[in-house]
Amino acid sequence: MKIGIYPGTFDPITHGHTDIITRSLRIFDKVIVAIAPNPSKHPLFNLAERLAMVQLVMKDVEQVEVTSFDGLLVSYVERAGAHAIIRGLRAISDFEHEFQMALVNRKLAKTVETVFLMPSEEYSYLSSTIIKDVAQHGGNLMDFLHPEVARRLHTRIRSLKS
Ligand code: ADP
Repeated sequence: MKIGIYPGTFDPITHGHTDIITRSLRIFDKVIVAIAPNPSKHPLFNLAERLAMVQLVMKDVEQVEVTSFDGLLVSYVERAGAHAIIRGLRAISDFEHEFQMALVNRKLAKTVETVFLMPSEEYSYLSSTIIKDVAQHGGNLMDFLHPEVARRLHTRIRSLKS
């Protein structure tokens, strides 16, 4: 069974992430969405909240497992017995950072490959950061997020403003 690990912050999960997961399932038998705490990114949602949202969005897809990990990604990949790391590539802006990470990970663990997937054009401009900006200004999130994730994001932003 081919297992891919899709790591990220998922603060929160967007349709761009979901698109990459759907595409990965054409290559892998199972995809583990592995959420990193990433405190340096100052996430708006804590780890448990991010995990719950990914679980909610993915609840009907049985080949997807949602979990969190701490420490070195490649160590987690090896522990999980996975075959590859999955990353999404949006516009060229992602390339440099992703290329660097993939090469460092390869140096750390020679047999761990990174697979890059491109999202559908309609999501190629989407990022959790932009979504949070749109939400801050009261914009409609329905084209970008699962409705329950959109509701939780609006609620979080309202509570931070009050
Ligand atoms: P990280 O902090 O690891 O970048 P993110 O949650 O921002 O975590 O992203 C996780 C992965 O999903 C990254 O590979 C990122 O490039 C990819 N990704 C995020 N949004 C999109 C999108 N709209 N289309 C394609 N890939 C995406």
